[in-house]
Amino acid sequence: MNNLDEKIHLAASLDESDPLRHFRERFLIPKAADGRECVYFTGNSLGLQPRTTRAYIEAELDDWARLGVEGHLHAEHPWLPYHEFLTEKMASVIGARPIEAVVMNSLTVNLHLMLVSFYRPDGRRRKIIIEKGAFPSDRYASLSHLQFHGIEPEALIELAPREGETTLRTDDILRTIDENAAELALVLLGGVNYYTGQAFDLASITTAGHNAGAVVGFDLAHAAGNLELHLHDWQVDLAVWCSYKYLNAGPGGIAGAFVHERHSRSFDLPRFAGWWGHDKETRFLMGPNFSPLAGAEGWQISNPPIFQLAALRASLDIFDEAGMPALRRKSLKLTGYLESLIAEIDDERIEVITPTDPDQRGCQLSIRVRDAELDLFDRISASGVVADWREPDVIRVAPVPLYNSFDDVGRFARILSDLIR
Ligand SMILES: *Cc1c(COP(=O)(O)O)cnc(C)c1O
Repeated sequence: MNNLDEKIHLAASLDESDPLRHFRERFLIPKAADGRECVYFTGNSLGLQPRTTRAYIEAELDDWARLGVEGHLHAEHPWLPYHEFLTEKMASVIGARPIEAVVMNSLTVNLHLMLVSFYRPDGRRRKIIIEKGAFPSDRYASLSHLQFHGIEPEALIELAPREGETTLRTDDILRTIDENAAELALVLLGGVNYYTGQAFDLASITTAGHNAGAVVGFDLAHAAGNLELHLHDWQVDLAVWCSYKYLNAGPGGIAGAFVHERHSRSFDLPRFAGWWGHDKETRFLMGPNFSPLAGAEGWQISNPPIFQLAALRASLDIFDEAGMPALRRKSLKLTGYLESLIAEIDDERIEVITPTDPDQRGCQLSIRVRDAELDLFDRISASGVVADWREPDVIRVAPVPLYNSFDDVGRFARILSDLIR
């Protein structure tokens, strides 16, 4: 046996000693063509369906059938306050206080709502720092706010890796913030870069942004449910995330927004208002004047989609049971195991571009395969692996601690090693 075989052999005992192994049974794992469960490594794109989701949604369908409009008050989980049933568990996933978190809309919509309130260009202080390789939606949104304020697109500063490097150095991020201090209005970074898998030092970036006099916000699409976050303690101003990736709420699932408690009563901030952000006590008096709720809830606009909330609630109940600290502990082992197996595949074309420092990544590894045959990825897929191919030459794999096993990792390494030859 070579080293790779020996290490793959360890998967069974690693699974056996994994305290979270039973959570896998709570999920519906898609099957490959041969009828086996596939190796599902795209929880960073669309998380799997909890077995309980159907019942959570059916309960609302049943209450709607039984009660009609009365369900708003008399459903088992009344629809009027339904989003509140998710607040505490959602807040706990991101390290927030309940007043700081709300579940609503979709990610990019929430980003726009946050920028309306928190991107406040003032004279020379108008620049926005983002990542060069940011998810396109973040760039489009940022540029559209510059345009909305009549500011030149050059006010967008894009952090790029150094020549010959693929990820950003924290020092370079902090230095750029510092150098632009006099003109900086907003720092808007991802929590984890979707392409490279690099996790940023959100605490240091927030401090540096504040020292520069700027507002600091994060797009946590790839961080929520993946990393342990402490948004409140880190003093982050705002954050947004989606729930269909690591949070398993299903395609197009309802998203989240975070507004730090110190802004919870900043009623003078401009905001795009709607009746669901209005004070609950007087909302149904239907008066002409908007009086926002304190906290993140005050940014709601419309009454929310109950079936989507039900799906997210099913998943958050599982997160609550497992707990982010335990999930992260397993995640470090699972991804570390994957990294050590890839290192045994003796092929110079393979390079992991995700940082090797576990503090600088979540569960995802992005594997560059130089000069790969065009059909390599298709053959990996045909072998029962669901991964993600990004042009020109990167395979992204995300073993998630809730439902992936060490055996999944071993199977993937075996397939990659066999097919790369
Ligand atoms: C997935 C993802 C999005 C998707 O935006 P939607 O508004 O949910 O369609 C946005 N930003 C980042 C960083 C993402 O990873």
